[in-house]
Amino acid sequence: MLTGEEYRESLRKLKREVYAFGEKIEDVVEHPLTRPHANAAAMTYELAHDPRYQELATATSHLSGRRINRFTHIHQSPDDLVRKVKLLRALGQQTGACFQRCVGFDALNALYIVTYLIDQEHGTEYHSRLQNFVAYVQETDVMCDGAMTDSKGNRALRPSGQEDPDLYVRVVERRRDGIVVRGAKHHQTGAVNSHELVVLPTTAMREEDSDYAVSFAVPADTPGLTFIFGRQTNDERKLGGEIDQGNPCFGSVGGEALIVFDNVFVPWERVFMCGESEFALPVVEAFSSYHRQNYGACKGGLADVLIGAAALIARCNGVADAAHIRDKLVEMVHLTETLFNCSLACSSEGQMTPSGVCYVNPLLANTVKMNTTRFTYEIARLAHDIAGGLLGTLPSEKDLRHPVVGPYVQKYFRGAADFSTEARIRVARLIEGMSSCSALVECMHGAGSPQAQRIAMYRQANLAEKIDLAKRLAGIADGS
Ligand code: SF4
Ligand code: FE
Repeated sequence: MLTGEEYRESLRKLKREVYAFGEKIEDVVEHPLTRPHANAAAMTYELAHDPRYQELATATSHLSGRRINRFTHIHQSPDDLVRKVKLLRALGQQTGACFQRCVGFDALNALYIVTYLIDQEHGTEYHSRLQNFVAYVQETDVMCDGAMTDSKGNRALRPSGQEDPDLYVRVVERRRDGIVVRGAKHHQTGAVNSHELVVLPTTAMREEDSDYAVSFAVPADTPGLTFIFGRQTNDERKLGGEIDQGNPCFGSVGGEALIVFDNVFVPWERVFMCGESEFALPVVEAFSSYHRQNYGACKGGLADVLIGAAALIARCNGVADAAHIRDKLVEMVHLTETLFNCSLACSSEGQMTPSGVCYVNPLLANTVKMNTTRFTYEIARLAHDIAGGLLGTLPSEKDLRHPVVGPYVQKYFRGAADFSTEARIRVARLIEGMSSCSALVECMHGAGSPQAQRIAMYRQANLAEKIDLAKRLAGIADGS
C-alpha cells in the first residue's frame, strides 16, 4: 500500500495535459489550485497506514488474499459496506473536504456486478478483464477516477440523436487491438490527481446508441486526453495567502475537471463494455447507488467539522451559552446523524449479487442522497445563522497584516477576550469555504441531481405492493 507521500510522488511522474486559468499546470501536487485536492486524496493513503484506522482503511483482497487499501477493494459483505461509510465519515472529519477517491472505487464495484451479467448474457470476457484490472489496481494502489457524466447537449435528445455526435463519449473506431473513443466527461472529481480513468456510460441506452454503450479504463497520461480544471468559489484566494482560503491544506470541494477524449486508443484488455446497450442502465444504477450510499458519510464528516466551527465561532462571539445557539447546534447534530444513519442503513441492508459483490440497498441509498440535497443546505444555513454577518464582510488577510489598517482590523474584529482576532477570522473563513456555492452544489448534484434520485426511487419503491396494502385494509377487492 502506498503512503501519502508515495502517492504524491507517483503523481509527479504522470505527464499529462492539465489546464487551469488558461495555463498549463505542470505539477498538480505543487500548483496552488490543485495542491489541496491532491492533499485530500493523499489522506486516503495515509489512513491506511495509521494503526487507529486499520479496520476501516484496509481490507483483505478476495483476489490475492493480501492486505490492500479499502479504496481498491471489492465489497465481500454488508460489513464491508458499513466499514466503507465509517471510513468516509472519518476522512470527511480529517479533511473537511471531498477526498475524491470514492468515485473510482464505486465505478469498479459497479462494473464488477455488471460485467458478470454481460458475460452471462453475451458470452463475452469483460468480467475477467475487469478482474485483471482490479488486481492491478490493488497491487499498485493507484487512484482511479470514475468518469460518468457526459456533455449531454440537448437533454431532450438521445446520445445518437444529438446534432454533434461527440456529446456523449463514443466508440469511433473498432480495431483488431482495441477501440478509439471520442467525447468528454464533465465534473470529474479528483480527475487531475488520479492515475487511471475508469469510464462508464451516463444514461440508459437503446440499440441505436450502441456506440455510446462503452466502458473502459485508461491511464491518465494516455495521448489524446486533456483535463480542463473547473473554477470554484473564491479559488483565486488559493493563489496568495492562507487565511482567506478557510481550509488551505485540503480545500473545500473535490477539484473537478472536464476531461476531453480526443481519439483516445484503448486496448481490448481494458474494455469492459462495448455495444451492449441494454447494460448501460444497470451500470448507471449500480454506480449511482454505491455513490449515493456515501453522501451521508462523507458529508456527515464534513458536517462534524462545520458543527465544530459553528460552536467555536459562537465562543469567539461570546454567545456559546445562549439557549438558541445550543438549539441550533443540536439541530445540526440531528441532521448530521440522520444523514449518517441512512448511509449505515443502506449498507447493512446490502445483498450479495451473483458476481460475488455485495450491493447496497438501492432505495435506501437514493434516500441518503436525497436527504443530502436538503440537510447539508440546512446545516450550512444554521452555521451562517450562528456565525453572524462577518462571514459575508470580513476584510482580507492582507488587510489583517497591513501596517496601517491591520491594527484597526485586529481591534474591531475582536470578539471574546479568550480568542485572538486572527482565530475568529480563521474559523469564519473555514465556515465560509465549507458552505460556499461550490461546496453546496456538490451536495446537490454530486452522485446525480435530485431528479435522478426521484426517478430511481419511483422505480424502486414498489408502488404496486403499497397499493395492495391499502386495498387490503380498505376492503377493496382485486380488480375494483
Ligand atoms: Fe467521496 Fe464524498 Fe467526494 Fe463523492 S463527494 S468523492 S463520496 S468524498
Ligand atoms: Fe461527489
